[in-house]
Amino acid sequence: MSQEPPPFAHATRWRWCPQCAGALALSARDEDGGPRTRLRCAACGFTHWNNPVPVLAAVIEMADRGGQVLLARNAAWSGRLFALITGFMEAGETPEEGVRREIVEETSVSVDSVDLIGVYDFQRMNQIIVAYHAVARGEIRLSPELAEYRLFEPSTLKCWNGGTGDALYDWLRSRGHTPQRWTLPPAGPSSGN
Ligand SMILES: [Zn+2]
Repeated sequence: MSQEPPPFAHATRWRWCPQCAGALALSARDEDGGPRTRLRCAACGFTHWNNPVPVLAAVIEMADRGGQVLLARNAAWSGRLFALITGFMEAGETPEEGVRREIVEETSVSVDSVDLIGVYDFQRMNQIIVAYHAVARGEIRLSPELAEYRLFEPSTLKCWNGGTGDALYDWLRSRGHTPQRWTLPPAGPSSGN
């Protein structure tokens, strides 16, 4: 029922209609839930819904490394932050197929099994995160988008508050650990996660 424009920069990044190349502008219209202000095209009626984008994430437990957890640092990030393997879901695949694909593409390990940890919002990136625990093995070779990896004893992991940090926290809790939490600074990981 809100009249406010969407609160995130992603909503205003789009300037042109993908259907007719007309200008997009914030305008109100009655929807099922009442009047809503969104980016719309006056020429053809296109609405930019700005729905969250599904992102797949994996806590990778290396069966042949004593159950250590594989985290990686994205080459695009500044700082020394290691995080879950993530990637965007693609058309024509199930979430489970997608997370298996991402793990292989980004680390080259072979995946024994995957099971769902949970589904998490990540509103600052307008993403919805579907997080899996994966058991994997084999030689680790990173894709170019990852700068380096590190293997962690589960008991030593710290989890940031939100998104993939919440997923890692929940998995560690399910294994009997009590992980420390920390808060991501405002200019943290960017797109692609
Ligand atoms: Zn249009």
